[in-house]
Amino acid sequence: MELSGKRVVVVGLGKSGVAAAKLCLARGARVIGTDSASSDKVSAEAKALGIELRLGGHPTAELLTAELVVVSPGVPRLAELTRAEEAGVEVIGELELAARFIEAPIVAIGGTNGKSTTTTLVADMFEAGGLRTFAGGNLGTPSAEAATGNYEVVVLEVSSFQLERAPSFKPRVSVLLNITEDHLDRYPNFSAYAEAKGNAFSQQTADDFAIIPDADVECFRQAQRGRGRQLTFGRFGDYTAADRTVTETRTGELFDLARSALHGQHNVENAAAAIAAARALDLGASSVRAALTAFRPLPHRMARVACKGGVNFYDDSKATNVGAAVTALSGLSEARGVLIAGGRDKHGDYEPLVRALELKGRALVLLGEATARIASAVGSRVPLVRAVNMVDAVNQAFARAQPGDAVLLSPACSSFDMFQSYADRGEQFTSAVERLGETRPEVGA
Ligand code: ADP
Repeated sequence: MELSGKRVVVVGLGKSGVAAAKLCLARGARVIGTDSASSDKVSAEAKALGIELRLGGHPTAELLTAELVVVSPGVPRLAELTRAEEAGVEVIGELELAARFIEAPIVAIGGTNGKSTTTTLVADMFEAGGLRTFAGGNLGTPSAEAATGNYEVVVLEVSSFQLERAPSFKPRVSVLLNITEDHLDRYPNFSAYAEAKGNAFSQQTADDFAIIPDADVECFRQAQRGRGRQLTFGRFGDYTAADRTVTETRTGELFDLARSALHGQHNVENAAAAIAAARALDLGASSVRAALTAFRPLPHRMARVACKGGVNFYDDSKATNVGAAVTALSGLSEARGVLIAGGRDKHGDYEPLVRALELKGRALVLLGEATARIASAVGSRVPLVRAVNMVDAVNQAFARAQPGDAVLLSPACSSFDMFQSYADRGEQFTSAVERLGETRPEVGA
């Protein structure tokens, strides 16, 4: 793709937008950056780019006269962008831009849950094999930065938002871990969300690999949109995941997770998908094993933060949708758990969470904007209390837990109603837990 001398408008000047602008500048484009924020809210990094800035909105005149528009993943479906598209302007996402300039094979990791864990695992495996590896995308460093480095393999976490405007994105290996309801505040329905995730398969050819769960009809349907060679993982897949062991059925090679820090059946499946991706690119089994053994879970994903009065406390603040919270609760090694949930509602169905609570929940403590919707789904099926802030939630959860139980923060909602981010929410949980004594307070105290 030739950008030299072209007039490129970058829409949205967050981390990804800044990286996209830098890539366009490096390729000789004339770049204009737009953002809905006013000048005092735009980062110093964006201002230091030395590009023309249009702040407080995205002027239609700029978009209509652009030769290329690059949209950051955080930018919603704006009428201005649709108008530019209708006028024939090429409008692409930051991922599409990056991929057009990345020369190394791309491993894309998508799914509703488990993306960051699996992306990190795959990158660790290639690094253990001595390859110059880029790890980023939706996680950490934006994809556009992979285009400027000298990498042998590029591992990208891809979100549905990033895949929306990526018409020629053709990863050598595309992993889709799972699809359950999420982001229904942004998509008109579940199939539109699933369709966006499946875009990572649609351009694949017979030299590429599509890695999907063995018994997931929706993931299979999405993989069928391309011509990539399918490899499956799960209980009966090409990479079977059972009893903390992953088996490569083709060779009989075993990958034992017993001594790894990957806990829960969902993490055995994440590991199986990661192994399939690494092996598809012919990485040696010893490099794969070295990475599995050394792996440490990322923060706020089922991290055990303390044990007080015989009760284990887990921070799973990254569980920002119903599917993730169901997995965390169902996978507890303790017989019962008090769940702390709630936050900003994403308009999904809470029934799967209520069913998991009926099986494993001692009680439910609700916090934040989604309280009324979750409470009405629960009815009287599970004991339920409402909390006013995180300290109150932790105190009430501790009061209702029995020795041998878990208290689990796995909110099933995003954090932006009361916290700056999922990390802030997890940190507030941890500090509230640290302030608890060893003795459980009385209920109602
Ligand atoms: P993502 O980047 O997709 O949000 P993470 O690896 O950060 O995924 O994990 C987020 C949460 O999702 C975890 O805290 C865990 O509760 C849940 N989770 C992780 N892997 C899976 C999986 N394979 N299936 C269902 N839930 C999962």
